[in-house]
Amino acid sequence: MNVLLTGGLGYIGSHTCVELLNAGHQAVIADNLCNAYGSVLDYIEQITGKRPIFYECDVQDRDAMERVFTENKIDAVIHFAGLKAVGESCRIPLAYYRNNLDSTLTLLETMERHGCKRLVFSSSATVYGPDNPVPYREDMPCHVATSPYGWTKAMIEQIIRDYVSANPDFSAVLLRYFNPVGAHESGLIGDDPNGVPNNLMPYIARVAGRQLEKLTVFGDDYDTPDGTCLRDYLHVVDLAKGHICALDYAAERTGVDAINLGTGNGVSVLELLHTFIRVNGVDVPYVIGGRRDGDLARCYANAEKAERVLHWKTEKTVEDMCRDSWNFIVKHSK
Ligand code: NAD
Ligand code: UDP
Repeated sequence: MNVLLTGGLGYIGSHTCVELLNAGHQAVIADNLCNAYGSVLDYIEQITGKRPIFYECDVQDRDAMERVFTENKIDAVIHFAGLKAVGESCRIPLAYYRNNLDSTLTLLETMERHGCKRLVFSSSATVYGPDNPVPYREDMPCHVATSPYGWTKAMIEQIIRDYVSANPDFSAVLLRYFNPVGAHESGLIGDDPNGVPNNLMPYIARVAGRQLEKLTVFGDDYDTPDGTCLRDYLHVVDLAKGHICALDYAAERTGVDAINLGTGNGVSVLELLHTFIRVNGVDVPYVIGGRRDGDLARCYANAEKAERVLHWKTEKTVEDMCRDSWNFIVKHSK
């Protein structure tokens, strides 16, 4: 299968590209490098022995996307491209709505012109909003997002649903990711955020690497076993493999389906932190601080549907996630 990965040089896209190439598929990447480095292409080649076709372009750019689809016969698209920082989306909401919605509309229009009818979309657990009880199930109502970023995911899901209603021979899978962490075992690709990380695992890894002084744990007074928030962390390589299963699933059927990709387990901030310290034998100074605005006490998946329909479940442990995140930092800071 010849697969277009929009945003394919980013964190999840690059790992998915590796799994796709390893599974014998071909990859075309369209990425504007707003949150990625061109060198990731070399790393993908080093890991797989294959170099994906790369277009440095914005998915909002209709002419550029036309070129991608004219020069390549694209069988399916995995749409990763998007801005993803929750806090930033509250400060610059228009940029988030413009980028995330426009890129999706331009992509769907281009796919339509070229008769490409298979799409896997990077959605997020954030679409479940603050009101649903955990574990989140795909059939729960998703009516209230908690940030402009979350709203872009909910809106894009709706755009895709409406498009599929009007085009019943189209096949779309909405993958709702929980908390991807970790890195490829080679240490060549991983989560490499610009500036100070917002997310827990890259923050811990940078404190361990002495690039940041200490971690602040955002609140230990939640109604959870140790008072810190529970999240469903999954290894990015497991997540990447889920996309290959989703492509196969999309090929077998038409219509639209939302599927959680998570482990089904809630892990606390302190559990993740202490596992990182233990498996890597490093020091990670931390203090307990106040709650972060908008944080939910618990967020984890009901992971049964992915196992039932995609025949996918996570294989890697929290220890693997911590070890591979640290390995990436160690290899990367050389
Ligand atoms: P990332 O920022 O590492 O990757 C996104 C990639 O898209 C980057 O390479 C960026 O340069 C590119 N991009 C952004 N806008 C673009 C545009 N208009 N045209 C072309 N390229 C563009 O993020 P990621 O963590 O790999 O996330 C991938 C997708 O998964 C995103 O849609 C994100 O919202 C979603 N997601 C991520 C997480 C997470 O925790 N990482 C969780 C849930 C959902
Ligand atoms: N967190 C923290 N300190 C940090 C970053 C995150 O205590 O510097 C906590 C955060 O409050 C949440 C958990 O770690 O409970 C996961 O946060 P992240 O931003 O990685 O994921 P999200 O909250 O978006 O699921």
